[in-house]
Amino acid sequence: MIYKLCRRCKKPISHPQVYCSECMLIVETNKEEYKRKRDNKYNKSRDPKYKNFYNSKPWKQLKEKKLSAEQYQCEECSRLAVEVHHIKPIQTEEGWVLRLDYDNLEALCVNCHNKRHKRFQSRKRELDNKNHQLIT
Ligand SMILES: [Zn+2]
Ligand SMILES: [Zn+2]
Ligand SMILES: [Zn+2]
Repeated sequence: MIYKLCRRCKKPISHPQVYCSECMLIVETNKEEYKRKRDNKYNKSRDPKYKNFYNSKPWKQLKEKKLSAEQYQCEECSRLAVEVHHIKPIQTEEGWVLRLDYDNLEALCVNCHNKRHKRFQSRKRELDNKNHQLIT
């Protein structure tokens, strides 16, 4: 049998292992904790304020108002509009201030809305890639 030393406590262990059984336990526990911490951080970076905003009553009311004012017509192609787009994305500081500003809104069909965001994404790809799914 080939022996080597535990990476952590330097106790002799048999070859294919990296840690002795005690250290293995500690290392695994730390890994779990690290993962949890990392996930926490990740969740924090995906700010729930946008999600909360889209679920908020003022936004839903404003969206309805905008859609009915446009008679549910896409401002781009005149097909049925079902979505309201923020011209200045609410993920930006400026856009957040304008999130309930009627003039910052555009009634769009699904197609045109997707196009809007693709165009937006290619212009500022890196910056907004991770937030893209949150932008409506
Ligand atoms: Zn050990
Ligand atoms: Zn359209
Ligand atoms: Zn949008």
